[in-house]
This record gives sequence, C-alpha cells and structure tokens, in this order.
Amino acid sequence: MTEPRVYTHYTTAPAAPGGEWVRFVLLSDTHSQTTAVPDGDVLLHAGDLTTLGEPADLERQIAWLESLPHGVKVITAGNHDFCTAPGDWHDTRGRELDNKYGVAHDAAAPLKAARMLEACGMQVLLGATSTFVVERPETRHYEWSVYGSPWSPEFERWAWNYTPAQAKKIYESVGHVDILITHTPPYELGGLDKIHDGTSVGCKELTRRLTAPRHHKDALRPKLHVFGHIHEARGTNVLQHEEGETVLVNAALVEYDQDLWNTQRKFSYDVVAQPVIVDLHVPA
Ligand code: 5GP
Ligand code: MN
Ligand code: MN
Ligand code: MN
Repeated sequence: MTEPRVYTHYTTAPAAPGGEWVRFVLLSDTHSQTTAVPDGDVLLHAGDLTTLGEPADLERQIAWLESLPHGVKVITAGNHDFCTAPGDWHDTRGRELDNKYGVAHDAAAPLKAARMLEACGMQVLLGATSTFVVERPETRHYEWSVYGSPWSPEFERWAWNYTPAQAKKIYESVGHVDILITHTPPYELGGLDKIHDGTSVGCKELTRRLTAPRHHKDALRPKLHVFGHIHEARGTNVLQHEEGETVLVNAALVEYDQDLWNTQRKFSYDVVAQPVIVDLHVPA
C-alpha cells in the first residue's frame, strides 16, 4: 500500500513510517504563537507567521521554527506578514494598517525581514520553486520539487493580495511540482476555504489549475498541497485524478475569531489545532 497517510488528531504522533516513506509535518497560520510540533523529515509552513508583520515577531517565529528538529524546512508568508510584502506595499497600505492597529511604523521593516529570511536556515519561497532531498540512509534518493506562494485573493488590501484579474499571472510560474504550498486555499475543493457563513473564498485560479484535464498545459498535479488562511476551514481532502491523487490540507493552527479585528479586544490568537502529519511514499 502506498496511499498517503494523513493524521490530524493524535495524542502522541504515530510511529514514523521509515523505509520508502517521507514524513511531512504541516503548519500554517501560527500568528506569532508557538506550539508542540511532532518530529518528521520535512516541515512546511504556509504563512501568516506573524500577527501584524513586525520584524521582531518574525524573528521569534524564525527562531522557533529553526529550533525544531526537521532536516528540511520550507516556508512561505501570508497576508499578515507585512514586513515581507513586495514593492511599496509596506510604505503605503502597510503604513495605514500599522496606524489602524496602533503599531509603530518601521520604514526599515522590509529590509530587516529580507535579511532575516536570507540568513535563516530554511527555504523561504515567495512565489518560487525549489527542491530538497531527504537524507535518510534507508530511503531512496529522490529530489522533491516544491513551489511556495504567499499570495491570497484580495480582502481588505492586506499584504500579498491579488485581484481576480491578476490571478493568472501570479501562478504563471508554477509548473509541475511534488509539493505545493500556498497561503490561500483553492476555491471549493472540499470546503477547505469556507468562511463561517458557508461562502467559499479560496482561489479560483488554483482550482482551475488543479482540476485542469490531465494533458492540459496548465494542469497541476502536486502530491501534496498545503495551505491555511481560512482558519475555520481547517481540514483535509483528497483530490482523485486519473493519474494519482493530491492530498489537500488546510493546516491553519489558530482559532477563527470573528470579533478579533472588529472589537480590537485582543491582538493575539490561540492555537486550537495540531500540526498535520502526512506520510508520502517516495515517488517511483
Ligand atoms: P487572516 O486575517 O488570518 O488572513 O484570516 C483570518 C480570517 O479572516 C479567516 O479565518 C476568515 O474568517 C477571514 N478571511 C480571510 N480572508 C477572507 C476573505 O477573502 N473573505 C472573507 N469574507 N473572509 C476572509
Ligand atoms: Mn509594519
Ligand atoms: Mn491567518
Ligand atoms: Mn491569512
């Protein structure tokens, strides 16, 4: 049996599968919090590391992730990670949001963040492809390909937001990869993008690519697609294709709190879920 194994709730982590298997441990939306993380071969984080994108918060998240034992770590950012946003976003909209939420605006934040991400011992993918190899003596050498994207559909003009018209271009550079990490869920693929009132707010372009017919030039067939962003939609699903399956995981770890940003009664989220464990058989 080589079907993927997925664990979302556990008291102790199931025994590592060993052999021709690789254990992925998935996190998203930690929002400045830390939590217990089971060991594994590869750690993936799908963004929203911080709450208001302050460099000091990012630094603490990086230090925490670096302290974990996984041999390979690949992360992206999310719409809350203001200091990682491209172009003049931090100087313009970022400044407005800092003022709105009472955060001191630090003009040097993007430079500080860029330096930290450059120097950290993790692969940081902000709309880019990379590869990694799991070094385990008994496991066949296989080069996994991975694409990471911090972008999400526009909502209140937060960082890394795109309009529907920009979506195609945003994902243009994603080709075939084994592992896809996006901050946003795909649109309507198993309810992993449904907000409290049942509306799906995920990315339609990602769904178009993931469901394109087998030989279509835009078809995407990752073995694993991890995302977060819609906290209340955390969960997993499997997309069946003729030529194999894609495991979809919304790995958001913190609560959904409708009042958090409206009432400003607090600016911290609580972790309410566990990192998701996915064991994948090394591809042939
Ligand atoms: P975050 O602010 O951490 O990116 O997302 C937190 C929550 O904001 C989500 O769990 C969801 O309830 C809400 N949210 C995020 N993006 C959207 C969106 O595009 N539309 C709507 N209606 N709600 C969203
Ligand atoms: Mn800022
Ligand atoms: Mn979030
Ligand atoms: Mn988000």
